[in-house]
Amino acid sequence: MELFQIVTTGCTSWQTKRMRIARFSLNGEIRFGSVVGDQVTLFTGNPFESKELSGQTVTLDQIQLLAPVAPSKIICIGMNFAAHAAEISQDVPDEPLMFFKPVSAIIGPGDTIVLPHQSDQVEVEVELAVVIGKQAKNISKGEVKSHIFGYTIGNDITARDIQFSDLQWARAKGFDTFCPLGPWIETDFDPRGKRLDSRIHDEQRQHANTKDMIFDVETLVSYVSENVTLFPGDVILTGSPAGISRMNHGDSVECEIEGIGVLRNQVA
Ligand code: MG
Repeated sequence: MELFQIVTTGCTSWQTKRMRIARFSLNGEIRFGSVVGDQVTLFTGNPFESKELSGQTVTLDQIQLLAPVAPSKIICIGMNFAAHAAEISQDVPDEPLMFFKPVSAIIGPGDTIVLPHQSDQVEVEVELAVVIGKQAKNISKGEVKSHIFGYTIGNDITARDIQFSDLQWARAKGFDTFCPLGPWIETDFDPRGKRLDSRIHDEQRQHANTKDMIFDVETLVSYVSENVTLFPGDVILTGSPAGISRMNHGDSVECEIEGIGVLRNQVA
C-alpha cells in the first residue's frame, strides 16, 4: 500500500509538471498554450506568471507559432564543444566565453533567415537554449534548476567571415533573423545526454550530444548570473557542436534536439 501511494503521487506530479509551452498568434493576439499532440490549450495569461489554463483549445494547424519567448536579452556561450573550437581553430576557454545576440535577431519557427549582403559565409549552429524562469543574480550551481523555466532550441546563426574580420562578434552574430528560437519550451527536460542535430535539405550537418559540453547547464547559468542579472524569459544559448555548415539561398534548415523537437526555417 505504501509503495502504491508513492507511485501514484509521483505520476500525478509528473503529469501536472511536464508541459510543452508554445507562443503563437491567434486572431491577431499573442497567446501562450500547452501543446499535447496537435492540441493546444490556451493559458489565461502569461505562463511565466501563472500556468492557469483557460480550457479553450485550438489545433497546431490553426495557429502561427512564434519564437516561444520574448527575452530581455540573449546570452550565448562560445566554444563549449571542443570539436567545434578545433574546427574554427580556436582554443577551448578556461571559463565560459560569453557574448550577446540582440533581441532584434529573433525569429520563430517557419520564419525566413535572411542572408545579409555583407557576408559570404553564413552558417548554422544548433544549440540547446535555456529559458530563465526566475530573476537570478549570483546563484550557485545548486540553485540553477529552480531558476530555469524550461528549454527550447536555438540556431546561433553566424556570419563566419565577419566573426574573424571584426574584432568583436556583435555584427557576425547579430544580423536580423540570426536567432531562430523554438518550436516551443519543454518545462520538464533533463539537458544531460541529449542528441543535437542540424540538417540542410534533409542532409545531416551537425550530430552531437550534450554530454560533450565542456561546461554543463548548471555551471553556465551560475557563471552568467555572477556577471549579469538574468530576468524571467532571458535565453542562454549553450554553444554549438562541430559540423557548422554554410547556408545558401533557398535552403531549408532544421535544428533538432532529442526530447524537444525540430526547429525549421528557410533561407532567402
Ligand atoms: Mg554558437
